[in-house]
Amino acid sequence: MKVLHISAECFPVAKVGGLADVVGALPKYQKKIGVDAEVIMPFYDNNYTESKKFVNIFESELDLGDRKYIYQILKLKSKLGFPLFLVKIPELLDRKYVYGFEDDSERFIAFQIAVLDWVLQSKKKPDLIHCHDYHTGFVPFMISHSVKYKTLERIPTVLTIHNAQYQGQFSYDKLYLLPEFNLNKIGLLDWYGQINPLATAIKCAWKVTTVSPSYSEELAIKSNGLEGLLLHEKAKLLGILNGIDSKVWNPEKDKLISKNYSIKTVQSGKKASKNKLCEQFGLDNTKPLFSFIGRLVYEKGADLFPDAFYKALLNHDINILVLGSGDKNVEANLKGLNVPFKGKYNSFIGYDEALAHEIYAGSDFLLMPSRVEPCGLNQMYSLRYGTIPIVRRIGGLKDTVIDIGDKGGFGICHNQTSVDDILYSIGRAVEFYKNKKGFKKNREICMKIDHSWDKSAKEYISLYKSLI
Ligand code: ADP
Repeated sequence: MKVLHISAECFPVAKVGGLADVVGALPKYQKKIGVDAEVIMPFYDNNYTESKKFVNIFESELDLGDRKYIYQILKLKSKLGFPLFLVKIPELLDRKYVYGFEDDSERFIAFQIAVLDWVLQSKKKPDLIHCHDYHTGFVPFMISHSVKYKTLERIPTVLTIHNAQYQGQFSYDKLYLLPEFNLNKIGLLDWYGQINPLATAIKCAWKVTTVSPSYSEELAIKSNGLEGLLLHEKAKLLGILNGIDSKVWNPEKDKLISKNYSIKTVQSGKKASKNKLCEQFGLDNTKPLFSFIGRLVYEKGADLFPDAFYKALLNHDINILVLGSGDKNVEANLKGLNVPFKGKYNSFIGYDEALAHEIYAGSDFLLMPSRVEPCGLNQMYSLRYGTIPIVRRIGGLKDTVIDIGDKGGFGICHNQTSVDDILYSIGRAVEFYKNKKGFKKNREICMKIDHSWDKSAKEYISLYKSLI
């Protein structure tokens, strides 16, 4: 079975968030169980692509409305565990960053056209196409209704919604960018008077998966305007929990942490990373360390951090460390805490993969008070590194973390994204930390939980088989 994953991100080539981690790991695990999984993504002009070698396997010209672009399909020479292809469209895709440009609609439509033009002429076509998020959302529509891709229409398509907050909608004056299609089908592009690639994909893909079972339930209640559509398409939805790449995220082998450790050596291993972090950020290594890693956005509850952390630092003898970037106001307010709470609080505003690994290893608790969390990978990484997740019961967090007060529990859970809930959970964590024996035992329990992709990769294969 040959499966082509189409995505805007893939670790380690280009990563903004969890999408990259999933697309960089799932195909690897699918290959292990006999699927011929491949990935195609845009070629960005970043440090990774600059340092790697590629083979040019295809070159052509594509039409994007009234403009023509020469493009190449490059194959990465380094081994990732699956073949990786990159679409290089000079001027359009080969930029330093993945998203955030005014012409993102043009960029991702051109990417999808290039992918399908390439598939159209290839001898061995995929048995199934797996699209990820809105950046690839026109693919199921184009395969089914564009004149040009008629011969591909029997290839089943799967859409995975990693995050329904981002839908990529734009107005009808850009309709001309799409390749000629059956105009009777124009309604498939529409959602509330705009062209909406995520809505289009939900309507046209053969099957739609979400990255956790709870998220698939929640989407019909809250999905940034797509509630009605997702309720209507409920029968097509399937929640498959994300896994983690347990080779990349392995405290026994991780080269990015101070000292490798196993369940047996968790105490000394975590201590080495904590000491390093405390030295680097001027914190107190005798106090519990609470951390946050992620995008500083409303979805993650980041707007509440300045107030919640201020109160927590006043009331408790703890350290808080933040790694992230996003909303400029939140960034500024978080930096503002550095002075009054010097020695107890610090932040690194930016993106740093190596520092993230050290923080998962060196922290005692990881905070995730998200308003929306389709799956969340951070809590799974933190468990793997023996760090106790403090999460709001939502989406994938609800599916992966059980409260210490409940049977089989190992984490700390709260119901709302509010300053009070965050403070209450920090208070519970401080108490729990005092019970040295119970705390150590809990670390071991966390590390034993298996969230590797093995199980979920098999669920995807069953789904593919049901469609082919
Ligand atoms: P999302 O995709 O919504 O941002 P996920 O929990 O699914 O959230 O995945 C986040 C991924 O991005 C994790 O691998 C996390 O470690 C990483 N990450 C987020 N922000 C940063 C940052 N500032 N520096 C390093 N890694 C980060």
